[in-house]
Amino acid sequence: MTKHDVVIIGGSLAGAACARELARLGIDAAAFERDRFPRARVCGGFVSPGGVDCLERLGVLDDVRAAGAVEVSSAKVRMGSAEVDVPFQRPGLGISRSALDKIVAGASVHQGFAVSRVVPADAGFVVSGLGFEVACSALVDAAGKLSRFTRRRGEEEFGIQYTEEAARGNVLDFWFFEDGYGGAVSVEGRRSNFCFLINKDSLKKYAGRPECLVTGPLAYDRLPGDYIAVGDAAGMVDPFCGEGMRHALDSGMLAARIVARGIRAGRGYSEMRREYEVEWNSRWGWKRALGAGLRQLLHHRDFSRAAFRFIPPRLWNRLWN
Ligand SMILES: Cc1cc2nc3c(=O)[nH]c(=O)nc-3n(C[C@H](O)[C@H](O)[C@H](O)COP(=O)(O)OP(=O)(O)OC[C@H]3O[C@@H](n4cnc5c(N)ncnc54)[C@H](O)[C@@H]3O)c2cc1C
Repeated sequence: MTKHDVVIIGGSLAGAACARELARLGIDAAAFERDRFPRARVCGGFVSPGGVDCLERLGVLDDVRAAGAVEVSSAKVRMGSAEVDVPFQRPGLGISRSALDKIVAGASVHQGFAVSRVVPADAGFVVSGLGFEVACSALVDAAGKLSRFTRRRGEEEFGIQYTEEAARGNVLDFWFFEDGYGGAVSVEGRRSNFCFLINKDSLKKYAGRPECLVTGPLAYDRLPGDYIAVGDAAGMVDPFCGEGMRHALDSGMLAARIVARGIRAGRGYSEMRREYEVEWNSRWGWKRALGAGLRQLLHHRDFSRAAFRFIPPRLWNRLWN
């Protein structure tokens, strides 16, 4: 059995950000990812301006730009016949998840290792999967919205994604429609990434499209769990906030800083977890609540259509910044 101070389950954005930040802080950590990068993932491909800041803090922004990420300087949001143009105060980026995840993971993630079991041990945990077993004093769950390590409350919604060969400039196009909502953005290689969140009952209409990826059911809220959870494992930020990737990167780095401090001070895992929860709530609680509130509003179509015309660009900027 090998030993590390910290084990991270999942090596996509949240897990890789956590692993990179722990390494920067001089902590011995290992992230285990069941997939191998590059691989496709259902995502809108829009990195918000705040997400771009996170990529810079992680030291990977130049690589992301060099991979062909497209600057996104405004959004066009449509609901029925109503349309709003939202110039961004700071630009975001369009990039596919196959390119982005590979860059962020770099060499800091062990790929092709699926964690199947976590067992509490004397001063920490034993984490294992096919052909590997690792002991650690702190564990971070970065296994995403379908994590089997942090229980969740599922919704009747699914995500779908496909790409098209033509680029669409520097605009994020966003539509709210009867069966759901979603958007399209230019990504590297002169392509456009389309991604929509669709109600379960209407999924058949859309998912038959060639090369369409599907994920779900989506789960916004987690139930109280035993582990420090980062990114979607901690609870999804509603996709129309366009901030899921920022949340993944930010919460991964936040957990790393709290765990590093805790290990140096000789604190127990539960104390680190409590400290992380408080900080995570103060940074992300309001945006998750705003997302949840707007999601409820969307269920009342007539009202949301009327309200849509009065949402000022300032508020859209708050959502995506
Ligand atoms: C329809 C839709 C559109 C979206 N559009 C956007 C957008 O435009 N912009 C934006 O910022 N956000 C968007 N999001 C949100 C964004 O995709 C997520 O918030 C982000 O992917 C979360 O990253 P993560 O690292 O937490 O989780 P994930 O990306 O889900 O990564 C979890 C990783 O854990 C691995 N894993 C799982 N189980 C195990 C295991 N047992 N052992 C080892 N590894 C494991 C998985 O293979 C995966 O790589 C969208 C989400 C949806 C559903």
